[in-house]
Amino acid sequence: MKSSYRVKEMILTLQGEGALAGTAVVLLRFEGCNLSCDFCDTDFTGMDGSGGGVFYTAIELAEAVEGKWISETSLSVLCTGGEPLLQLDLPLLQEFHRRGFRVLLETNGTIAVPGEGAGEEKIDWICVSPKKNEIPVQKSGDEIKIVWPQEDLDPGMFEKLDFNNFWIQPRFDRNYKENMKASIQYCLKNPLWRLSVQTHRFTGMP
Ligand code: SF4
Repeated sequence: MKSSYRVKEMILTLQGEGALAGTAVVLLRFEGCNLSCDFCDTDFTGMDGSGGGVFYTAIELAEAVEGKWISETSLSVLCTGGEPLLQLDLPLLQEFHRRGFRVLLETNGTIAVPGEGAGEEKIDWICVSPKKNEIPVQKSGDEIKIVWPQEDLDPGMFEKLDFNNFWIQPRFDRNYKENMKASIQYCLKNPLWRLSVQTHRFTGMP
């Protein structure tokens, strides 16, 4: 059992990318990551964001997430980071489900997801975004997303994994225009892969 959950920010917004783009979610950004990618564009350190802080129990955290929701239906929480699987555990997953939440996950794929055992509760939507040129620990899910370009990473090695959606997403840095062109070119040459556009980059959503 966890002694606490560390949260960078907790915001009601619309999912910005991937197959669920435009869907209302409480974005729950956990603090900390187990990788240090040189192209990382996410601030996941500290607990100083909107709604951030330390939560001492799964009930306390789930209650805070529920408090952000303004509709009475279709509750969804998007667990992201950093790497959310450093903290998202079975008790928290169960507590979200007990409150009627659909639990969406964005992970770098280096840690097995909780709730995959027979008869256990499962995460409702899994998005894996590998950052290394190796088969991820998490080999199945709803979508796989490659930030592009990534040196020494070949998206082709993930094509046989058990995912329903394959995304190429332009790396967001000072070469964004070139990265977008390279991503479009990759999808044209490899049509299994679709272009993921980060809508929050131009809508002003978090
Ligand atoms: S895995 Fe994601 S959040 Fe972690 S350092 Fe890499 S890009 Fe940043």
